[in-house]
Amino acid sequence: MSNAKPFRPEHKIPVAVLGATGSVGQRFVALLTEHPWFEVVALTASERSAGRPYGDAVHWLQETPLPAAIAAMQVLPTAEPLPCRLLFSALDTSTADAVEGPLADAGYFVVSNASSHRMDADVPLIVPEVNAEHLELVHHQNRPHGGAIVTNPNCSTIGLVMALKPLADAFGLEQVHVVTMQALSGAGVPGVPSMAVIDNLVPYIGNEEDKLETEPLKILGRYGDGRIVPTDLTLSAQCNRVAVLDGHTECISVLLGKRASQDDVRDALRRFTALPQALELPSAPRQPIHVTERVDRPQPRLDRGREAGMAVTVGRLRPCPLFDFKFVALSHNTLRGAAGGSILVAEMAVVQGLVPGG
Ligand code: NAP
Repeated sequence: MSNAKPFRPEHKIPVAVLGATGSVGQRFVALLTEHPWFEVVALTASERSAGRPYGDAVHWLQETPLPAAIAAMQVLPTAEPLPCRLLFSALDTSTADAVEGPLADAGYFVVSNASSHRMDADVPLIVPEVNAEHLELVHHQNRPHGGAIVTNPNCSTIGLVMALKPLADAFGLEQVHVVTMQALSGAGVPGVPSMAVIDNLVPYIGNEEDKLETEPLKILGRYGDGRIVPTDLTLSAQCNRVAVLDGHTECISVLLGKRASQDDVRDALRRFTALPQALELPSAPRQPIHVTERVDRPQPRLDRGREAGMAVTVGRLRPCPLFDFKFVALSHNTLRGAAGGSILVAEMAVVQGLVPGG
């Protein structure tokens, strides 16, 4: 990492967003419109939207205005042919199940947010600050025409592993317990009905606890000989939907592999930096983890926007009577946890020479 140098591609790389009308798809469009390396040349969605101008098909919910040139683009069906090789997928899971594999077989480089292929043995599941070296798995997919699938983890997994990685490196990790309070935007568009969530919370999110208990083991695992050996860690997760628009909050307790003081833990979190920072990738936060000493932080409304929504905020670090330490981590679920995280994965793949035409 110390030899890493900032990298710039020689020309803009054309990209498409699959599922561009959804909650995550819109975030992709907003972020890619401003991106220095990538240029949006195609937007796809379901047959309901295909053939319509994007501005008519989408119910735009972003804080930034929809650029006129993007609004005028005709939505394409989610199928071949597409006019570029790099595809960002924000498709719902059942559609992703059906189309991502065939698109990769046809030579497209698919960076996906869907859960369909995350746990496939030859598919990298990447948080660039944590396991960029797992991108090597792409060479073992053996797809014709240079295509591949690379995946972004579940939105809550990302905040969790970002906070765990410095602790795993410095002290080892034996057991982790996490309780999440997850934002409404994580449920897609149109999302959770107001009658279900106002004055309420829902202590169930389908399949979420399973993802949170399995994905971190792969991400924190070791790459070698074309495979990932999952890390040996016991994880227990409880997931709740709460009436917050954006930003997942996670209460985390950790049992470390060796003794450490509270100052040691705080220093490890604060000092954490990785390859995306050394390479100065456009979507990388300067400091991946912000540690706050305020007794009542992090809070979604106040902290989710740190470093354009790409930093994780950790606070309330204190001893845990059951394990060693407990703390609260907050991350933006559709920025770091979805579209922004995927774009950072693609930037890393471009630097590693994996993206066709990149
Ligand atoms: P969403 O709002 O429901 O959007 C789904 C998108 O898929 C829409 O563009 C929709 O197009 C399109 N689509 C639906 N059926 C299709 C079909 N048969 N063929 C082609 N396109 C179809 O979902 P989301 O919340 O953005 O999530 C997208 C993916 O990211 C999911 O796999 C989700 O699990 C994952 N994810 C979400 C978050 C989050 O915070 N929201 C975080 C991490 C990962 P139409 O508008 O035309 O129906």
